[in-house]
Amino acid sequence: MSIQARRRDAGQRRRGGVMSANLIERIRTAENLPSLPAVAMQILALTRDESVSADSIAAVLQNDPALTARLLKVVNSSMFGIARKVTSVRQAVVLLGLRGVKVLALGFSLTDALNGGAGGGFDYTSFWRRSLTTATAARQLGRCVAASQADEAFVAGLLSEIGTLAAYRCAADVYAPVLKEAQASSQPLCALERQRLGCDHAELGRELLNHWELPVALCEAVGAHHKDELPAVEPQTRKLCALVMAAAGICDAFCGAQGASTLPQAQDQCRRWTGISSSDMEDVLKSLDEHVQETAHMLNVQVGSTLSYAQLQAEASQQMAKLTLEAELDRAASQRQAEDAVRHAERLEREKEAIWELASIDSLTSLANRATLDRRLEEEFHRARRAGSRVGLILLDIDHFKVFNDTHGHLAGDAQLRSLSACVKAAVGATGLVARYGGEEFAVVVPGEPPDVLDRLAEELRRRIENIVLLHEGRELRVTSSFGTACVDGVDLGVGPSLLLRLADEAMYRAKRHGRNRVAGFAPSDHVAAASR
Ligand code: GH3
Ligand code: MG
Ligand code: MG
Repeated sequence: MSIQARRRDAGQRRRGGVMSANLIERIRTAENLPSLPAVAMQILALTRDESVSADSIAAVLQNDPALTARLLKVVNSSMFGIARKVTSVRQAVVLLGLRGVKVLALGFSLTDALNGGAGGGFDYTSFWRRSLTTATAARQLGRCVAASQADEAFVAGLLSEIGTLAAYRCAADVYAPVLKEAQASSQPLCALERQRLGCDHAELGRELLNHWELPVALCEAVGAHHKDELPAVEPQTRKLCALVMAAAGICDAFCGAQGASTLPQAQDQCRRWTGISSSDMEDVLKSLDEHVQETAHMLNVQVGSTLSYAQLQAEASQQMAKLTLEAELDRAASQRQAEDAVRHAERLEREKEAIWELASIDSLTSLANRATLDRRLEEEFHRARRAGSRVGLILLDIDHFKVFNDTHGHLAGDAQLRSLSACVKAAVGATGLVARYGGEEFAVVVPGEPPDVLDRLAEELRRRIENIVLLHEGRELRVTSSFGTACVDGVDLGVGPSLLLRLADEAMYRAKRHGRNRVAGFAPSDHVAAASR
């Protein structure tokens, strides 16, 4: 969220309380506030008394001939299946019961009072679809769990959305943008209303019904219809609230923006709040769509097309399948990514090894190269210093190799270098590291051994080399080599590998000077000579 948006949001929250008070006041004092028709008010007042007579109701209804005519028409319609023709309100009251008539009369007068007048922008079809779905669901649930409250639940459902209508009629400037935003957003309308206006349409509805002095239970049920928990009110009112809240949840599943995805939660809340059995609830849901259309027809309001329970379930399982598929695809994609990452790491490792090998191995002889020799000497010196031990080195140089090359050719020279390397490597084994020091010179690092062991090893190597026979162009070719050995320990280790190399080199040249094909060991005179240079 941008800083500006955050500030705007915080501002809206701060102003929320003031805004909601203003909005409620604006609605209360608005001149175009929907008013309850006198007949509806009188019927409500009368039916609060359970013992009211059919005659008194009939007397009130007869004050409104249009209403009476519609009532009789509906009562005589096939929906009620009454064989005898009903000709008077009194008869209708006897046949449908006081409550039935009350609900019909209220339904007619309320829908007449509320329909129209909000201006072109208000979506009446969706308003009635929601109101009638909540009303019908509340009535049907009520019939299963609290028959005496079913009709009151219907009226409460019918009035549940009245807050949206009132806000639109009386404060379109602030409310219309919220409705528009809700259409485009995945947030529930109530949450958005609370964020933007500081109160929601359920609270506005309750204020309005309070203002009309309708029964408290009705006001509470409308006020609570989008709550997540049953309100702490007296038991009868609480029961009515439970019916309307459960119905509003069902309405959200059938008509809400989130649609089928909210069905399982709505079913769960319905069971918890009303105590209805699963099979009864299924029956209510199965017949809901038909009942909504019937009631809409009867009350003469447009609800557009409504979803059947079967369609809703199909949609829900489709959504579920889509979610499952998406989760499965996500899982497969992340597994693929993980596998790719492992393969990539392995390839990098192999490339690294290959590069490392190239950088550390001499290509002609496959022995360690000079760089590897230097590194190994550093390591051995370090180790010897810590362990208080020694590092030994044998240097060997092929005798008169220039002549060899000149006589037999460079290729023969190369072949000779290769077989000599293999021979030395086999002889040294795991005792030490054999490296090509340069040209026709080789080095053997021998850690931890005293000078006499070094000399014996060098002698062994010398002997083996002179016995190598290279077959080249039908001739048997041989070489010899000269060896210098050196070994440092104690304080000399502090000087570093350069000293050891120099001492071995000195010794090797001594072997050359003394006739070649021989081993010369480290002599103190070399040491002094090397150190003084
Ligand atoms: P000395 O006994 O004094 O060591 O005599 P030398 O001829 O062996 O010494 P010198 O340093 O004069 O010559 C070394 C020769 O080694 C010259 C060069 O052609 C040969 N050589 C060095 N590297 C290679 C190589 O990779 N392949 C071949 N075929 N010959 C090489
Ligand atoms: Mg040489
Ligand atoms: Mg040389």
